[in-house]
Amino acid sequence: MKTEYKKIRGNKYHNYDISWDYELDNRASKNLVNTLHRVEKQIKKLLTNFEVYAIILPSGCLGVYCNGTSSCPTIGIDLENCLKDCKGWKVPLSVGIRTTILHELAHSLQDSRGKSANEDLAEDFAWHLEKIKSKWNKSTLRKSLYVLEI
Ligand SMILES: [Zn+2]
Repeated sequence: MKTEYKKIRGNKYHNYDISWDYELDNRASKNLVNTLHRVEKQIKKLLTNFEVYAIILPSGCLGVYCNGTSSCPTIGIDLENCLKDCKGWKVPLSVGIRTTILHELAHSLQDSRGKSANEDLAEDFAWHLEKIKSKWNKSTLRKSLYVLEI
């Protein structure tokens, strides 16, 4: 019974399962998945309540926030696409993954406040938090919401 339970995705906030809409990337390299987990842990210093999955997206698409999951944001990241773009931008993969997750979290915050997705503000929010990364603490997220104009 326990193993069957583990197969059921979802959380106490909603039962959305990202695999309903996206293909999970079960072939991503261990190195990529480890980087994703490390970055996820870092971001959970700001916001504990979200989940992130490695998924397969069209070329050039880095991440998605699944609309309607703002009670516990469900985020998908295409690690191969991230890696390709990071090489092009000459930035570490961890920066690409972190700013992508933060960008998608911005969309979840916009969603939770009934606002439509604003790409420019989401991007500003992600890079603002990336720039002050060394000073992250419990109140950083709250203090940074002004960037999203919410
Ligand atoms: Zn976006």
